[in-house]
Amino acid sequence: MNKWDSRMIGMANLVATWSKDPSTGVGAVITDQKNRVVSMGFNGFPRAVLDDDEKLMDRDERLRRTIHAEDNALLFARQDVTGCTIYVTHPPCARCAAKIIQAGIARVVAAQPQQDFAARWADDMRSAGEMFTEAGVAFNFLGNQ
Ligand SMILES: [Zn+2]
Repeated sequence: MNKWDSRMIGMANLVATWSKDPSTGVGAVITDQKNRVVSMGFNGFPRAVLDDDEKLMDRDERLRRTIHAEDNALLFARQDVTGCTIYVTHPPCARCAAKIIQAGIARVVAAQPQQDFAARWADDMRSAGEMFTEAGVAFNFLGNQ
């Protein structure tokens, strides 16, 4: 197993704990080719938008307002992320995969999802996987490469 892959997924796991999402905390870390951290993100509402329990516990409202971890990491990057790697605690959804590709990320590493997550996000994982393949973005689960 790639030592840095394991370290950066560990960091993404830490960042995921900062999420207030009552369902799933997701963390993402973007690194450059020298394993330097370029950006990080976790899933949550936009800055200054009230994320009180009432809004967080309303599933539909939460889903409409939440920025995904990968999206936040891309938004917070202060440099071009072309050629960078993104590490995510969960496999990216199709919308995030599209943005990851468009931003020029070269490689995606995700932790192996739990079975219930994989079942819930099966369509997204399939679409994301197809797009990564077509776009030439390397995708692998931690430990499988
Ligand atoms: Zn997403």
